[in-house]
Amino acid sequence: MSDNIKLIDKLKNENTLSGDEWFSLLSSFTDENRLYAAKAAREITDSIYGKDIYIRGIVEFSNICKNDCYYCGLRAGNSNLERYRLTEEEIYECCKEGYEYGFRTFVLQSGEDLHFDTETICRIISRIKNDYPECAITLSIGEKTYEEYKAYKESGADRYLLRHETANKAHYERLHPENMSWDNRIRCLYDLKSLGYQTGCGIMIGSPYQTTECIVDDMLFMADFKPEMIGLGPFLPHSDTPFRDEPKGSYELTLLLISLCRLMLPHALIPATTALGTIKPLGREEGVQAGANVIMPNLSPVAVRKKYMLYDNKICTGDSSGECRGCIEKRMEVIGYNVVISRGDFKA
Ligand code: SAH
Ligand code: SF4
Repeated sequence: MSDNIKLIDKLKNENTLSGDEWFSLLSSFTDENRLYAAKAAREITDSIYGKDIYIRGIVEFSNICKNDCYYCGLRAGNSNLERYRLTEEEIYECCKEGYEYGFRTFVLQSGEDLHFDTETICRIISRIKNDYPECAITLSIGEKTYEEYKAYKESGADRYLLRHETANKAHYERLHPENMSWDNRIRCLYDLKSLGYQTGCGIMIGSPYQTTECIVDDMLFMADFKPEMIGLGPFLPHSDTPFRDEPKGSYELTLLLISLCRLMLPHALIPATTALGTIKPLGREEGVQAGANVIMPNLSPVAVRKKYMLYDNKICTGDSSGECRGCIEKRMEVIGYNVVISRGDFKA
């Protein structure tokens, strides 16, 4: 048996590898290793979540952002982008429409838009929770204080997505300007966990300056942090950012990491991301086949979708919410999975 197959088996049996073992596996994996890991990962996923696929409707409610992350099309420094902000009423209407399509989790995502102060976010959460008490609310609105996260939680937010982007501090500093810090990012994640959120972290695969050592750090960080959700997508360049000429991340490495995260944290909720579906037409299907169990279709009004361009060529920006919902259901059926009407909580 090859060394890499032994390492994949070890990860499956013990849910952990040392830094050296991670390095060795990640720097020498073959396609055969990747497919072996995918098969093992899918077996584990099936044993916990069956063939169920949880869907989350994403409402991209503002593309205004005070931050200047070098990789992102919404960065404050991108003056070519037409900015928008949905009203509270519009956000509510997106969720209402989503409920009718069978969504039982709403993900409210935006740039870091200070117009949405704590009170406003809490009001939005309370209204949705009041009318749809059986639904979960996930926030993905960036770095906030402990008090803010606490207020959102008390208003009814259930989950929070905040990718750590990289567990390597020096790498973090090459992806963000000086006024953002790795320490604050990590502080946010631990605050969210301590407040009882189902917490999601994650990375872009192939972000500029990422090395195998960085990914080893990511795996060790996640082994310790034990996120309930893990967002993994390839880095994709955006033409109005400093990283416009940087190469895309590797599709195969993204799939491998989905599988390895599943083997390391068997119960995690792992989406087959929109970025994975953007880099390859059947990316989300292959993501599921590699161990993902969540898909996050768009619930934003069609009129604003093209303005929420984190990276170039993002898919599903011309379709209505109903079309996205139907499309995902069909795509999953073709590969033998079922989209379920459920909150889709983390199974401890
Ligand atoms: N402002 C919030 C949520 C929106 S960005 C936040 O930053 O958390 C959501 C995620 O999109 C980011 O965490 C990042 O990992 C991803 N993203 C941004 N630009 C990207 C790019 N060029 N390619 C791939 N993913 C990108
Ligand atoms: Fe803003 Fe999030 Fe984009 Fe950074 S990644 S610029 S915080 S929207």
